[in-house]
Amino acid sequence: MTELHTMTVAELAAALRSRQVSSVELARSFLARIERHQADLNAFISITAEAALEQAGKADERLRGGDAGALTGVPIAHKDIFCTAGEKTTCGSRMLANFVSPYDATVVERLRAAGVVMLGKTNMDEFAMGSSNETSYFGPVRNPWDPLRVPGGSSGGSAAAVAARLAPAATATDTGGSIRQPAALCGVTGIKPTYGRVSRYGMVAFASSLDQGGLITQSAQDAALLLAAMAGFDERDSTSVELPVPDYAAGLEQPLKGLKIGLLKEFFDRGLDDEIERHIRAALDVLRAQGAVLKEVSLPNLPLSVPTYYVVAPAECSSNLARFDGVRYGYRCEKPRDLLDLYQRSRGEGFGAEVKRRIMTGTYVLSAGYYDAFYLKAQRVRQLISNDFEHAFHEVDVVIGPTTPTAAFELGAKTSDPVTMYLNDIYTIGANLAGLPAMSVPCGFVQGLPVGMQIIGAHFGEERLLNVAHRYQCETDWHRRAPPGFVA
Ligand code: GLN
Repeated sequence: MTELHTMTVAELAAALRSRQVSSVELARSFLARIERHQADLNAFISITAEAALEQAGKADERLRGGDAGALTGVPIAHKDIFCTAGEKTTCGSRMLANFVSPYDATVVERLRAAGVVMLGKTNMDEFAMGSSNETSYFGPVRNPWDPLRVPGGSSGGSAAAVAARLAPAATATDTGGSIRQPAALCGVTGIKPTYGRVSRYGMVAFASSLDQGGLITQSAQDAALLLAAMAGFDERDSTSVELPVPDYAAGLEQPLKGLKIGLLKEFFDRGLDDEIERHIRAALDVLRAQGAVLKEVSLPNLPLSVPTYYVVAPAECSSNLARFDGVRYGYRCEKPRDLLDLYQRSRGEGFGAEVKRRIMTGTYVLSAGYYDAFYLKAQRVRQLISNDFEHAFHEVDVVIGPTTPTAAFELGAKTSDPVTMYLNDIYTIGANLAGLPAMSVPCGFVQGLPVGMQIIGAHFGEERLLNVAHRYQCETDWHRRAPPGFVA
């Protein structure tokens, strides 16, 4: 049998069903890899070995008893933003460094019910604020393709873990690109579903109108299998949408003949690395050869997405993070003098610099006298960007472009200049502002570092996205390449 850690979720699920391997064996093998590479990658915040082996044991019983589902016994990792009963959920922050949630997030609960085994909780930017995984209280994650470089953020731990084959797949979240961007920089597949497709219950809130849970996997096929298990209406999340969840795996093979692909003029205009552009164009040729047709589309308001996002997201974060006051849960300072001192020192010591910057920006744009000039205006521009996308989807089925402006950069290269850091999100933020589903799939290498192609779809068009990504992956093998040193 092929080495276990190089296998996809689909392959592992088949091996489990045919009893070639047990869930306990699988869990042990991945846990050993996680332990071995923790010091060099720092991809995990917690390794939940005991729980993993217990869940794997139960999965083996189900497999033996013939009562297993499609994913029973498959191990995965969860981003440390999803609450997990009985295990720490830190969200990459000192504020929650010792927090143990009394309940599971809906995503965790559903995957657990499907028999999926949790290996551990992955490292991330503090409260998911960042593009390089350098704002984590637990230290940066390193990119398995080059340990001197960032893995992308904020789901950097999930992306590095899947790229290094420490876990076959991992959950992740995307507020402005945090699934797609690290997926691109680590050479793995990422999907951010439509806003409302996956429940946010138990997912620590950053910017509630933008946050969406999703996945980082080795392939579109794996994303289809896992998404089907975690998506769907949840009465505990008032923004989750009551629509049936399609059988994503069943739609993967659909032919691409006649598929209309939009090329976003604004994505290819300027600032895009020549080499990345060359890879995207080569990928488009692969899709064209299967009968897809290309059409240029323009979203005139898209260039405003970064400034719009960096008003809306901090505004929502300043409100969401007000709950961390040292009183109810989370970090509390030593020996507070009085209530004000308790608030000030607990928040001052519990949050890192980037989180404080966002809270201050957000509080400012929401304050009397500035609300109209900043927050209200940003909301209006957000609507214009949404309208642009809506018009584009009258003409095309999906839109394709780059995921990131460059391949992975060196650790520390952008930490002193927040605006340069924010510009990494230029291609990903639009989909969040408009609530659209979007994916990143590996499409080549620039100087030995992976780069991604982004596919954006219409609302609830995940099935189509997965289909396009899968057909592309049937013709290419970029997604099967693993970083040297991590595969035998
Ligand atoms: N890089 C963006 C930010 O820092 C997006 C993060 C995310 O998607 N969680 O806000």
